[in-house]
Amino acid sequence: MPIKEKNYWLDTVAAPLAQSARDLPGSIDVVVVGGGFCGLSAVRALAKRGVKVAVLEAETFGWGASSRNGGMVLTGMKLPVPTLIKRYGRDTVRKMYAASLESIDCVEQIVREETIDCSFSRCGHLEVACKQAHFDGYQESAALIKREFNHELRIVPKSELHGEIGSDIYFGGMIDETSAGLNPAQYVAGLAHAAQRAGACLHDHTRVTSIKQEISNGVRKFRLQTSRGAITAREVILASSAYTTEATPALCKKIIPIGSYIIASEVLPAELVRELSPRNRMIYDSKHFLYYYRLTPDNRMLFGGRAAFFPETENTVRQSAEILRRGMIGVYPQLRDTKVEFVWGGTLDFTLDVMPHAGKIDGMYFAVGFAGHGVAAATWFGAKLAAQICGDPRDIPFDAIKFPSAPLGLRSGHTWALPLVGAWYRLLDFLT
Ligand SMILES: Cc1cc2nc3c(=O)[nH]c(=O)nc-3n(C[C@H](O)[C@H](O)[C@H](O)COP(=O)(O)OP(=O)(O)OC[C@H]3O[C@@H](n4cnc5c(N)ncnc54)[C@H](O)[C@@H]3O)c2cc1C
Repeated sequence: MPIKEKNYWLDTVAAPLAQSARDLPGSIDVVVVGGGFCGLSAVRALAKRGVKVAVLEAETFGWGASSRNGGMVLTGMKLPVPTLIKRYGRDTVRKMYAASLESIDCVEQIVREETIDCSFSRCGHLEVACKQAHFDGYQESAALIKREFNHELRIVPKSELHGEIGSDIYFGGMIDETSAGLNPAQYVAGLAHAAQRAGACLHDHTRVTSIKQEISNGVRKFRLQTSRGAITAREVILASSAYTTEATPALCKKIIPIGSYIIASEVLPAELVRELSPRNRMIYDSKHFLYYYRLTPDNRMLFGGRAAFFPETENTVRQSAEILRRGMIGVYPQLRDTKVEFVWGGTLDFTLDVMPHAGKIDGMYFAVGFAGHGVAAATWFGAKLAAQICGDPRDIPFDAIKFPSAPLGLRSGHTWALPLVGAWYRLLDFLT
């Protein structure tokens, strides 16, 4: 079968995503811009608390990174814990780490409550060491995480690694049993249905083109112009992530959109599946320019990486198929003759300090910067912003940290500097 330049996960979504051809309401309590995990989690939570809320999505629900990712529901943050403690102090980082664990529970609770059929499983994740020095660092990391956060990670020496992965190239591994896996397209579709059931107005194919503040009778409101007319709202949540545009220029300046690509193989025989990933973990390696991979529920190998740093285009997707296939065979020579049936790409929302951020910008709520942790984090941040709008106490530990703007060459739409970032990470992988 030839490679389809197509997202494998979307092929598994039976029910079409909730849609609405209705006219926009003239005014509403809250408008959410962007219908991925973050936006849909926020509207679901708001609607459940009786708030009149609409979500406006430029394409279809889940069209952004939320249906394109690896489906890894991961604990922790992108940066190493010592770096985080040095930057933000022990107390703040304890709260951040607790939030990362809570975010996995948050996804699990939503999946259960809404009976979302998305193959959610607490299968744990495995990080594999590409160098001896990386493996040597695992012991220290695990001890630090146990001491600071009372969270248990398990080290797997090279001699026992075959119980976890059918590959000989790694120097050992580290396991976190708390992490989970799911089918992201089914999950985001389930979130959209849940939000609609709770009473939220869902509007797809509705692109927000500008947002202005208005004061009328002493009350501040936001007026949003969209491709399907105007709408006013008391509060706005920006959940447009890496796909943020100049419609919200202040947020756009903060985001570094980075491409990531995935291939999915043909369905593999059961015996080979057991050999490649005996415990069916979510797996990623220890490099900066990393590979992440897992089995799909129907036993394909799904293998992803930053094959190009540019956001996805037809060209980068096509080139990525071969780069990732070579990467996959490097890890698993057993797959040399296996057919790759799908390839697709998506864009991640990095920030200059590689941290998630939330708070208010130009008077509007926002949450961005989930990078490779957005399945859990975007869901959690969306729910937290909703709670804040409903008057709950502020308890997002990431909202008090400084949010640096991205340098011009790395911002959305100005991607000329991205190859330099790619080269820098490759150099770091060579040196460290
Ligand atoms: C290839 C890939 C693999 C990944 N793997 C993982 C993984 O395994 N685990 C993990 O945790 N994370 C992973 N991620 C990251 C994760 O997918 C994202 O962090 C997460 O989906 C972000 O969700 P979101 O709701 O914030 O944004 P998105 O899902 O990107 O949604 C933003 C939406 O906003 C809409 N939008 C933008 N501007 C406007 C506008 N003006 N008007 C209306 N709508 C607008 C867009 O159309 C888009 O649908 C991966 C990402 C990619 C691309």
